[in-house]
Amino acid sequence: MNCVSCNRNVLEKELFVKFKCPNCGDFEIIRCKTCRALSNAYVCQKCNFVGP
Ligand SMILES: [Zn+2]
Ligand SMILES: [Zn+2]
Repeated sequence: MNCVSCNRNVLEKELFVKFKCPNCGDFEIIRCKTCRALSNAYVCQKCNFVGP
């Protein structure tokens, strides 16, 4: 599993979040703690929704 923002392997980190895309509800967004703290943008690979 990789963070959708920085593409790093989240399993190497102790904290990450996993949630469904708020737009299509079909794609699982995975973000590491770092990207969440920095509010890095993420892109849904299914519907191209961009969100913080
Ligand atoms: Zn990240
Ligand atoms: Zn989506």
